[in-house]
This record gives sequence, structure tokens and C-alpha cells, in this order.
Amino acid sequence: MKDKEFSSNKEAFEHVELGCPLCGGNDIKLEWVDYTFNYGSGDDVTEINAIVPVMSCEACDIEFLDNEGERIKHEAICRHHGVLTPNEIKEIRKKYNYTQEGFAKVTKFGIASLNRWERGASIQSPSTDNLLRLLTIPSNMKILKERYSKSTKNNEFSLTEKFPSIMGSDQEYHQIIIRSEEFNIAPQIH
Ligand SMILES: [Zn+2]
Repeated sequence: MKDKEFSSNKEAFEHVELGCPLCGGNDIKLEWVDYTFNYGSGDDVTEINAIVPVMSCEACDIEFLDNEGERIKHEAICRHHGVLTPNEIKEIRKKYNYTQEGFAKVTKFGIASLNRWERGASIQSPSTDNLLRLLTIPSNMKILKERYSKSTKNNEFSLTEKFPSIMGSDQEYHQIIIRSEEFNIAPQIH
């Protein structure tokens, strides 16, 4: 717990060195505050609570959150909705050593969406959240991996494999028939 607080403070401190977003001043104080903010609009407004590092500029008296603060705030919103946080999504992907691109291909998630969920730029739908949770179980991920590798194999058949009757040299007769039916290539061989 101590370590976590230290690293969070350190990140926040690095941002403080960049200065105040309003006046550019460097005299900035950091304070961990039990912070309540509104989320949503209209009738859907809910109050969400989080302990966040709040920066305040001594010169112009404004308060603001740095990236770390925004990340903590976003996680509180995810917890409120009962959905996986951006880091938890990233951890599921990394568990299987996938890049965002690789994970998107196998799961059929849009890569732009996946990128937004992991950055905390948008929150995944409840159905997507359920699917992501199921993918924490390796045997479920394996089903998708196998489907994906099958589909790429089909696309990568060589000419010899696609047209055994024309291109093949040592195919057995019954295999040729099976292949011709499999790929639905007319005319059939009798
Ligand atoms: Zn300032």
C-alpha cells in the first residue's frame, strides 16, 4: 500500500513539474482529496466518490487533475458501473501476449474500440464486458484462437490446395473429390 501511494505520488509529481495548465506556474501543491463528482447528465446523474490527487496552483488558485487523477476518476466510474477498468482489460490481453492488433483480430473487437477502452476514452458495453470476462478463462480464449487460425488457414490455401485437380501432382483420387466438394468448385469430378 505504501509503495502504491509512493508511485502514484511520484507520477503526479512529474506532472507538477510541467506546470499549471492556466498560468504555466510551477508553484503547485498536490493533495489527496476524497472527491465527489457527478457522472452522466439529466436524470441519469450519479454522484461518484474517489480519492484523487488534486493539484492546486498557488499563483492563480485553480485546482486540476493530472493524467493519474483522470485515470483514478475513470476507474471509479467503471467500478460504479460494475465493468472492467482499462487496466483490467489490458491485463486480459497481455495474459495471452497479444498486441492490441492481434487481440482485435482474434476476438473481432474493433481495434479502435479496444484502444479506447484501454485508454479509458470510452467504456465498453455490458455485453462486451461480459465477453471480456469470459476471455479471462484460457479454454474460452482457445476457442476463439482456433476459430481464427482456421479462418486464416482457409485464406492461405495455396493454388495447389485450392485446385488439386488442376495443379496437384500427387493427390489421390478420393482426396481430390473431397477437396472439390469442400471448396464447391464446379464442375465436380466423377
Ligand atoms: Zn496557475
